[in-house]
Amino acid sequence: MSESRNIFYPQTEITTVLVPVTRGCSFNQCAFCSMYKEETYEEVTLQEIEFELMNGETYTERVFLTGADPLSVGYEKMMRILKLIQKYYPYCGCVAMYAAVRTINNYTVEELKQLHAAGLRLLYIGFESGSDEVLKSIRKGHTVKTAIAVGKKLNEARLPFNAIVMYGIAGEGNSEENAKKTAEMLNQFSASKIITMNLTVFASTELAKMEQEGMFVQASIKEKISEVRILLENLDMKKRTEFDTTHATNIIKLLGTLPDEKEILLEKIKNSTMKKLKDDKK
Ligand code: SF4
Repeated sequence: MSESRNIFYPQTEITTVLVPVTRGCSFNQCAFCSMYKEETYEEVTLQEIEFELMNGETYTERVFLTGADPLSVGYEKMMRILKLIQKYYPYCGCVAMYAAVRTINNYTVEELKQLHAAGLRLLYIGFESGSDEVLKSIRKGHTVKTAIAVGKKLNEARLPFNAIVMYGIAGEGNSEENAKKTAEMLNQFSASKIITMNLTVFASTELAKMEQEGMFVQASIKEKISEVRILLENLDMKKRTEFDTTHATNIIKLLGTLPDEKEILLEKIKNSTMKKLKDDKK
């Protein structure tokens, strides 16, 4: 079996059994992303997946399917993968994976319901921003309208998902508008968790090139922290939703449940901002 040079998974899945489904990224165009730049996209064959499962842990309750967007293999193959997991890991109660808005958009509600019934229990989706202007500039490959439709479709299929958004991505002077538009998008559906990431501009990305050419200017730390605050202030969750800024890239680390802990989280941001700005002056 050929090995992927790059295997990524969310920090919360660090102890989860990993099963490769795709290598590289079938899209590979997002301006901020360097993850699979040098890797050619390919699907892992069913034979390879079965071999991996046969020789893996005999007992696990959770599996994370690796690859940028495993649903890109299509409904039939994904269903066969889930059936193989049921066969080899009968105690597995949760299969999770990364997923892209544009790919989920190709699935019907009924197909998503069937995948859920076969064990798919959590998607990590990079929504990134609720601004069409920003999504276009970072070449994310989906619009806000599609993102909202996908969020609602997943809710209808009762397939839980975490929504990943990125602050700083709109660049200097645009963070407030981006935060408000992102909150407006997130308010249209129910994610289990909202995960924030702080933009990191990696060398070799299109965004690094845009920065060198003066087409993109990074927001200051102060502006980025207020973007998180404005995002939180404008979130109006109808169902219990975790708000999680604990990913390593974040400037301020917070974890709480909305809507109940919104005021507590806002107070923590206020206190951390004062401390951070005071420390930076020293
Ligand atoms: S962010 Fe995801 S979809 Fe975009 S290029 Fe990177 S791996 Fe591919």
